[in-house]
Amino acid sequence: MEKRSELYRGKAKTVYQTDDPNRLILEFRNDTSAFDGEKVEQLDDKGMVNNRFNHFIMTRLEEAGIPTQLDRLLSDNESLVKKLDMIPVECVVRNVAAGSLVRRLGVEEGKALNPPTFEFFLKNDALHDPMVNEYHIQAFGWATKEQIEQMKTLTFKVNAVLKSLFEQAGLILVDYKLEFGVCDGELVLGDEFTPDGCRLWDAKTREKLDKDRFRQGLGGVVEAYREVAQRLGVQLS
Ligand code: ADP
Ligand code: UDP
Repeated sequence: MEKRSELYRGKAKTVYQTDDPNRLILEFRNDTSAFDGEKVEQLDDKGMVNNRFNHFIMTRLEEAGIPTQLDRLLSDNESLVKKLDMIPVECVVRNVAAGSLVRRLGVEEGKALNPPTFEFFLKNDALHDPMVNEYHIQAFGWATKEQIEQMKTLTFKVNAVLKSLFEQAGLILVDYKLEFGVCDGELVLGDEFTPDGCRLWDAKTREKLDKDRFRQGLGGVVEAYREVAQRLGVQLS
């Protein structure tokens, strides 16, 4: 496997081409960003923790029958993944009210949501990732009706698998964001599942153990990610 030129440098990861046209390398950097890239910091070891965390979670999802980008772990900070044609929308499921939902609807943080909610957001930093619905997604050709249905089904399937995985580790999966892409005509889970893109609270104390520590300046960001990884049994280096 040969690492070739840089394809894209995002806010937290860099994507490289390889000698295999169907594979990419995702490099997880220590950069941590919030508020659409307005707040950026380097946090030691975050790339390694997130890379290994993501590999662990995607392996569990694959075992549960969810198609993922996963190929293999390459190093502390790099994973080999299937090259996907990314769909430019983010799929968010919420089990508990927090974040933008609380701000948008004026509801109380921490309220359990029954049923869990589903939202689509357009991936566009300049527009601050506006919420969109299925009509927008179809009308602008970001995904087909069938892909929209599959994204919803798979995102909820991920919820069933991960809610119980985190519960067993004494954690509440508050909400999370997924991104999908297409590979050989199949819808596949891409990007990452790490504490950068979900909310995790300690089940007893409700302490925040995710990127809200960075957003809210609470400190101990990577320490919290390590704590979650350790409770799940993720092997860190
Ligand atoms: P952002 O683009 O939001 O700043 P990142 O720093 O995480 O985010 O950059 C990673 C980029 O790589 C994202 O744009 C994501 O959509 C894209 N990506 C993630 N997984 C894959 C994949 N398997 N194939 C192709 N592109 C991917
Ligand atoms: N999220 C993400 N990337 C985004 C927007 C949201 O990973 O660009 C995640 C976020 O970490 C949280 C969930 O999606 O776990 C819901 O985020 P929310 O809409 O509450 O927005 P926030 O207040 O986090 O910006």
